[in-house]
Amino acid sequence: MNFEHTDSVRDYQNRLQAFMDEHIYPLEKQVSAFHHDPKSDWQIWPGFNDLKAKAKEAGLWNLFLPKAYGAYSPGLTNLEYAPLAEIMGRVLWSSEIFNCSAPDTGNMEVLARYGNENQRNQWLNPLLKGEIRSAFLMTEPQVASSDATNIETTIKSDGEDYVINGHKVWSSGALHPNCKILIVMGKTDPNADRHLQQSMILVPVSTEGVHIIRPMTVFGYNDSPEGHGEIKLNNVRVPKENMLLGEGRGFEIAQGRLGPGRIHHCMRLIGMAQRSLELMARRVNERQTFGKTFKDYSSIRQELALSKCEIDQARLLCLAAADKMDKEGNKAAKDLIAMIKIVAPRMACKVIDRAIQIYGGLGLSQDLPLAHFYAAARILRLADGPDEVHMYQLGKQIAREADY
Ligand SMILES: Cc1cc2nc3c(=O)[nH]c(=O)nc-3n(C[C@H](O)[C@H](O)[C@H](O)COP(=O)(O)OP(=O)(O)OC[C@H]3O[C@@H](n4cnc5c(N)ncnc54)[C@H](O)[C@@H]3O)c2cc1C
Repeated sequence: MNFEHTDSVRDYQNRLQAFMDEHIYPLEKQVSAFHHDPKSDWQIWPGFNDLKAKAKEAGLWNLFLPKAYGAYSPGLTNLEYAPLAEIMGRVLWSSEIFNCSAPDTGNMEVLARYGNENQRNQWLNPLLKGEIRSAFLMTEPQVASSDATNIETTIKSDGEDYVINGHKVWSSGALHPNCKILIVMGKTDPNADRHLQQSMILVPVSTEGVHIIRPMTVFGYNDSPEGHGEIKLNNVRVPKENMLLGEGRGFEIAQGRLGPGRIHHCMRLIGMAQRSLELMARRVNERQTFGKTFKDYSSIRQELALSKCEIDQARLLCLAAADKMDKEGNKAAKDLIAMIKIVAPRMACKVIDRAIQIYGGLGLSQDLPLAHFYAAARILRLADGPDEVHMYQLGKQIAREADY
């Protein structure tokens, strides 16, 4: 395994780092304060479009987009994108500036891979240009959604249209003022084989019958302006051509959607953890108790040392998963993908928690990114598929391999 960065990746890293230093870090507190102020709920920070234009001009746009997806792609592999996503992960809102934020990245991949020409023209192109945003509606409150075969929303054929009825929750991005398109998962044929019952269909947010009931909060954060919506779909009527790929192909699309985008969160979590370690390291040089500087306490040195070990282990695992995906495809890399999805959020939670502790009360406050980092990392033990489900599948595979 050789994970040495190529010259081209080093160039991207340098340019992205310079952009973060010049345009993102100086605004970090201001933008976060805007996002957390209830008066600006569901509004976009006024400088966002300027920042996006600058990122585009700097050639730091759609960096996540695999080469196969055409003209808008800078052509980076997963292995090449990983260190860049890590840099973006250091500031929670920054990936949107580079048009690399979830859930749009996964949705763009779905449209690029499975959308027909009309669907791509109507929805993929404005997403690639950063003009609109999107949401992905799978989870439902009334069923255990970590098993997607449980999803109950109905998509019924009616003449030239489909009529959709269902109740969704945790639809990230749905409250964003620029969210224009929803990818909805539901059943077209409840009697078909278990994995052929589901389909995915495009629903413009403005369609009659789409009711965003409320934003959900996570540890009290509403994550404005994207939010996580609870949504009712009441007799939502869309034309037949909105179906993605075809009836019964929902699982096939979900598998594809869960490809490269699935480890983007892991890549960013490594950035979050790395920044937390750097903040920790800075603090221990400044602070004193009981006549000693923090850095001179053995227990604190252990916290720093363990954090570094754990971050570096996770980073290598993440690069190994990315490399295998690039070389042998997502199917061959599925165990490594599961492994990093188990490891990265837990590692980040642990490291961020240590940083919070070392900062004392300040660590929990709005003056540092740590509290929000912790919430974001903890979310990803669920939102990226619950840990237990990844372990359930990985464990099954390990047992199967030994059963000879
Ligand atoms: C902030 C946030 C954002 C999200 N964004 C989106 C989004 O944009 N779109 C979307 O569709 N969904 C989204 N989700 C939903 C997320 O994908 C689901 O919460 C997740 O799939 C789990 O489904 P559930 O909540 O129904 O939990 P359940 O399926 O009820 O599972 C609950 C728990 O049961 C246990 N469990 C389940 N299966 C197993 C097993 N095989 N072995 C052992 N234990 C098990 C696990 O502990 C699991 O956490 C988001 C969630 C959050 C919190």
